Amino acid sequence: MSTIVALSTPRGRGALAVIRLSGPLAINIATQMAGLGDIEPRKAKLTKLLRDEQIIDEVILTCFLAPHSLTGEDVVEISCHGSPAVVREIVDRVLELGGVLAGPGEFTLRALTNGKINLAQAEAIRDLISSQTDAAVKQAARQMNGELSNTLQPFKEKLVEVIVLLESALEFVEDDLPAPRLSEIEETLASVIAGVDKLSASFNAGRLLQDGVRVTIAGRPNVGKSSLFNSLVAHERAIVTEIPGTTRDTLSEAIDLGGIPVVLTDTAGVRQTTDGIETLGIERTHRALSDADLVLVVLDGADEVGPADRDLLSRTAESRRLIVMNKSDLPSFGSANGCVGVGRTINVSARTGDGLDELRAAMLETLNSSGVENQGLLITNVRHYDLLCRTKQELELAQTTFRDRHSEELVLVPLHNALKYLGQITGETTTEDILSEIFATFCIGK
Ligand code: GDP
Repeated sequence: MSTIVALSTPRGRGALAVIRLSGPLAINIATQMAGLGDIEPRKAKLTKLLRDEQIIDEVILTCFLAPHSLTGEDVVEISCHGSPAVVREIVDRVLELGGVLAGPGEFTLRALTNGKINLAQAEAIRDLISSQTDAAVKQAARQMNGELSNTLQPFKEKLVEVIVLLESALEFVEDDLPAPRLSEIEETLASVIAGVDKLSASFNAGRLLQDGVRVTIAGRPNVGKSSLFNSLVAHERAIVTEIPGTTRDTLSEAIDLGGIPVVLTDTAGVRQTTDGIETLGIERTHRALSDADLVLVVLDGADEVGPADRDLLSRTAESRRLIVMNKSDLPSFGSANGCVGVGRTINVSARTGDGLDELRAAMLETLNSSGVENQGLLITNVRHYDLLCRTKQELELAQTTFRDRHSEELVLVPLHNALKYLGQITGETTTEDILSEIFATFCIGK
């Protein structure tokens, strides 16, 4: 086994950088670099690192002996000063002394190989690092602590029970399974299917935590798109202006909407024009509309609904959308405003902030993700979702085959497949190819 090394903190300048080594030579390399005879494990040691008797840096060394470490191997963490030149010198010196550069996710892969964590936990570490909102962090932390594997464990145990019953019936051909056993199998299958189904259904909300959503604000000039954008983003980013068509491009900002990472895009005024720049902006608007997971169609509630509004309403009729009736603070405001029956309408005032809470709640509801923060364990990873769907398919096949009283062998095939798919979520039955595909999505140093 090689000894790997990588910078574990982000590249660039900072007060500190952490370089990590893992493998059989880790301790030896570190003591050589520090000119120390020995080093006490799990104790921070302030020491100088040397190369050709020149001091590279004064660092803190911490050693962890196998198997009591992150990877299950000997591990050394070097906290040095956060200069790219210092980091390079240290890493180069480790390479001279027999280390090799770590590949993406290689530390985590070693932890997995040495049984320190399972695959679902390894993926949760990656998701935790890339989380953008508190809710996403919480979900990743739950999965990192093994909650997904713990939830799947009883399903697996129940399937094994059924498999054992059927296998034993196979061995003693003359003894058909007694009726109570048959209904027991029937019930167990139904309960596992229900459990798998419930878990996979949580992906609807869970996927949004990692992937986020695109929300596009559209409307004719002057209805208050930029004002609404600013209110939602809660700081001034778009130029608020009374001159129609001045928002010439699309502006985007990432916001945390009830735990969901949302990219909010303010579009240029949708209208026909001969102005070159503005035409470009309008093209982008069309693109932003077609890319959006949700469109906020903004209308001026204090004004008549005109042809441009109607045009936008008909163009977005097939999209997931909310109608936002803006300027509710004005006396001429009419909430329905000739727009009855076009979809869910929310009255707001981007100026006073009135109705914005309702708008946020309606957005979350429409995105099918209300309360992601308060729900239990959610499936956030498409690989897990896909495997759960396949598990369910196999279980349903087993269920119908069993009900039709086909031979035990025919019921056993899909049951074994279902067990295999569940095992692939936690990595017990995952092939090398799949593992390398998954770990290619990790960053180096993790
Ligand atoms: P956009 O062209 O759709 O982006 O519209 P703007 O956000 O630039 O707003 C156009 C005009 O409407 C500006 O003068 C805003 O101050 C005004 N406005 C926007 N929202 C409101 C609102 O809720 N109430 C009132 N009274 N005026 C608003």
